[in-house]
Amino acid sequence: MEDESVVVCGPTSYFGDDVKTKCALCGAEVFHRPHVPDGKRVCCACVVKEMGSGTQWAIAITAEAARAAIEYLRAERANRTEAGN
Ligand SMILES: [Zn+2]
Repeated sequence: MEDESVVVCGPTSYFGDDVKTKCALCGAEVFHRPHVPDGKRVCCACVVKEMGSGTQWAIAITAEAARAAIEYLRAERANRTEAGN
């Protein structure tokens, strides 16, 4: 991949409003949040392959994505506490 924006997408959907699409490199089904910036949607496996090829990466996260991740982690922690773990 040349100098371009890439949105790393997951293989699983965690939120009801996640967007389903296909990896721009391999065509695998992937999911991303609805508010991600422009850029190629790429699956984790393709990103890992590219990282090994010497591509220089700058990683960014939107404020909204950070809030969603924090909410997810808080809910997960609360569930663990309730379960006594
Ligand atoms: Zn891929």
